[in-house]
Amino acid sequence: MTLVHNWHLGRRMEYPYFESRPKKQFAAIFNINRCIACQTCTMACKSAWTYNKGQEYMWWNNVETKPYGGYPQSWDVKTLKLIDNGENTWYTDEKDEKLSPYGVYEGDTIFEASAKKNLNQWAVGYIPEDKEWRAPNFGEDVAKSNNKPDEYSSLPEHSRWFFYIQRLCNHCTYPGCLAACPRKAIYKRKEDGIVLIDQKRCRGYRKCVEQCPYKKPMYRGLTRVSEKCIACYPRIEGKDPLTKGRPMETRCMSACVGQIRLQGFLDDNPKNPVTWLIRHHKVALPLYPQFGTEPNIYYIPPRWAPRSYLRQMFGPGVDEAVEKFMVPSRELLAVMSLFRMTQTIVFEYKIEEGPKVFETVIHGKKFEMFNDTVIGFGEDGQEIVRTTVEEPLYIRDPKHYNSI
Ligand code: SF4
Ligand code: SF4
Repeated sequence: MTLVHNWHLGRRMEYPYFESRPKKQFAAIFNINRCIACQTCTMACKSAWTYNKGQEYMWWNNVETKPYGGYPQSWDVKTLKLIDNGENTWYTDEKDEKLSPYGVYEGDTIFEASAKKNLNQWAVGYIPEDKEWRAPNFGEDVAKSNNKPDEYSSLPEHSRWFFYIQRLCNHCTYPGCLAACPRKAIYKRKEDGIVLIDQKRCRGYRKCVEQCPYKKPMYRGLTRVSEKCIACYPRIEGKDPLTKGRPMETRCMSACVGQIRLQGFLDDNPKNPVTWLIRHHKVALPLYPQFGTEPNIYYIPPRWAPRSYLRQMFGPGVDEAVEKFMVPSRELLAVMSLFRMTQTIVFEYKIEEGPKVFETVIHGKKFEMFNDTVIGFGEDGQEIVRTTVEEPLYIRDPKHYNSI
């Protein structure tokens, strides 16, 4: 084991390999508040990668309803129990923008829990039973009723609630799957941090299935090897002619009907929209950071769900993130206008100021809306998208009214 820094946890932790971060890390942000569970992302992924024999149960991208849904069933509750962490343990009195932006996690990660229990494996985990993989939509749209309405004294927290959570492999900085593999068949690409399983080296021991806390590697009985999300790497490499050699978003991202997804790379540029939303504005948070793998898919939490539930799921940054999303700043509103405006990955943004078009008070706070223009640039510095905060309105010529 070596000591590595995990910025989600605000501290160092033990991991089998040395810390090695790519200059740009595959990452994405999902705005839970906008998802309609249409499952278009799920089907876009399925029709691209997992339509063959033996892959019937593989949903590399899935959208589940919380609190009851899960694919495989109860994957998160089961892993939380393994790290003895039903309740989160965070020290939040001292924060450091760079080292511990959310506070310091004082519980055990999946790696530390395994060492403590003297298990002969790198991380705690379990292999789901076949029946747990059977129904990807288990619990869909089932609301949880709160028996103590007084707990929710004021909106926006609701006494009956559910929300959708969109899941795929997190291409973690410290992957549990990679640590677990006795064949060293799993590797993290230096150029973009994408985590892949070498199909030729894999012998199907299912250690990755066991020790990925998110349960995203899946075993294919027909070929007897494990498979997982490949982050549509040919698109990321710019192999699709549509983006003329520029990095392109994955199938699940670009298909999103609700326009909830923005994909990019985490890097050191504060004007990279993904980096700004995650590291600087802190409105997008990691999923179960306490597992310790430093996942790279981030979520804008749903504003109506109980905070205690959300804190367990996304850590102590939840209150600040929800607050910022409910009464968005001028910059946040402009950057969020980039969501789903292009399939080409945006590396940098610039905002051109426009006139004030609206003002109101939200939860006691003044909110002003400006019709700013936000411009996105590709990896080569060329402009690839330009849009405004107010959606443009096109009025169809009367002579085309019935032309559809
Ligand atoms: S989410 Fe799981 S499969 Fe994906 S990189 Fe992390 S540990 Fe590996
Ligand atoms: S396509 Fe978008 S809106 Fe539809 S389920 Fe997927 S993430 Fe949600």
